[in-house]
Amino acid sequence: MCDTCGCGIPHDHDHPHDHDHGHDGRRVIPIEADLLAKNNEFAARNRSFFKGRELLVLNLVSSPGAGKTTLLASTIQALKGEIPIAVIEGDQQTSRDAERIRETGVQALQINTGKGCHLDAHMIGHAIEEMALPARGLLFIENVGNLICPADFDLGEAFKVVILSVTEGEDKPLKYPNIFAKANLVILSKIDLLPHLDFDLDKCVEFARRANPDAEMLKLSARSGQGMDAWKGWIRKHLA
Ligand code: MG
Repeated sequence: MCDTCGCGIPHDHDHPHDHDHGHDGRRVIPIEADLLAKNNEFAARNRSFFKGRELLVLNLVSSPGAGKTTLLASTIQALKGEIPIAVIEGDQQTSRDAERIRETGVQALQINTGKGCHLDAHMIGHAIEEMALPARGLLFIENVGNLICPADFDLGEAFKVVILSVTEGEDKPLKYPNIFAKANLVILSKIDLLPHLDFDLDKCVEFARRANPDAEMLKLSARSGQGMDAWKGWIRKHLA
C-alpha cells in the first residue's frame, strides 16, 4: 500500500523486499497487480467507447497549481466554435473547476475522489454514462493534481499530457520520471512569468528529454496567449 496517498500502488518506492518484480524493476504484489489489471480492463472498455464515438480524449496531469484549468478554459474559448468539447474534472473536493469550465459554455462533470489521489478508469466509465458526449469531438480529462499516482492509471485516453509550470522546479522530470516517461506531450506552462523567475528552461527540457526522449514538447502561456497556436494546432492534428 502506498503510504503517501493510500491508493494501493507502491509508486516506485525503493525498499528491500523479496517478492516478484515487474519488467521495470518495480515490486509487484498481488493486490497491486489485481488493481491495475482491473483498471486496465476498464480503460480498454473506455477506449473502445471513445473510438466508436471518434472522440479525442486527453488526460491532463500535473502538480496542483500548474494551470490545468486555466489552460483548459482558454483552450475551450478558442476551440468551442469549431469542435464539440466536454470535460471531466477530477479533484479531491469541490466543484470549483467544473464550474469554471461550465462558464465557458461547455459540459463539465466533476468527480470528487475524496481521499483518492488520482482518477481511475472505473470512475471515468461511470462519468461517461452520465454525460451526453458528442461524437467526433474532444474530451478533456483533468486529473487530480498529483505527479505520482496518475502515472499508473490508464483512463482509456488517447494521449497523456503532462503540464509543468515554470513556477515549479526545473528538476521535476528527474524527481518524478515515471509520469514524464508516460507522457505523449509535455507542456511547459506559464512561460509569461519566465522573466521574473530563475527557472532554467533549457535544463528543464533536457531533464524532460532524459525521462522521455520521445515526448513532444510545447511551451505556452494561457494568460499571454504565447504558444497557444501550437497547442491548438497539436489538438487539431490529432482530431483529424
Ligand atoms: Mg484544476
